[in-house]
Amino acid sequence: MHLRHGRWTIRFNVSQLLKEPPGSARTYKVSESLPALEVNSSNEAHGTVNLVRTDKGIWVTAKLDCQALCSCSRCLSSFPQPLKIVIEEEFFPTVDVVSGAALNTSGLDQEDFTIDENHLLDLTEALRQYTIVAVPMKPLCKEDCAGICPACGTNLNQRACNCDKSLQDRRWRPLFELLSIEKRS
Ligand SMILES: [Zn+2]
Ligand SMILES: [Zn+2]
Repeated sequence: MHLRHGRWTIRFNVSQLLKEPPGSARTYKVSESLPALEVNSSNEAHGTVNLVRTDKGIWVTAKLDCQALCSCSRCLSSFPQPLKIVIEEEFFPTVDVVSGAALNTSGLDQEDFTIDENHLLDLTEALRQYTIVAVPMKPLCKEDCAGICPACGTNLNQRACNCDKSLQDRRWRPLFELLSIEKRS
């Protein structure tokens, strides 16, 4: 369930914290630059991670400034999209920290996050999921991205093309009229 992308992991050893009473806490600073291996995944994570012992596990509050590689919805070029990500999740241990015996995890859901048998709390998968949610539906490389010419495919941010824009305008006019009618109603 937990994907690992090479060294693309943000992990904390929580063996000590698990031995402490509920309410005990740790705060860590995170500053990671990671290889961007897939579109829409964070390749930068800077901020703080707060871990609080609960009666069942560890509550994580992570406030991270991230950056994801996005594909512009107008010109299709890849660009880094800054994202503010706040992760709020409880992580549950799978082994008893004192005896090392496996804990009964039948009460956990598939989506619940777990702490592995080495007491490592791994934020990687949570960050991956939160990043997907945080990425805009239609990312734009810049507010005024000129997009690509529908006739020749030229990236109009880089250079103009010689296509007959008036012809395109005529071709697209029925669509624009339709859109403006929809807007008015
Ligand atoms: Zn663009
Ligand atoms: Zn063109």
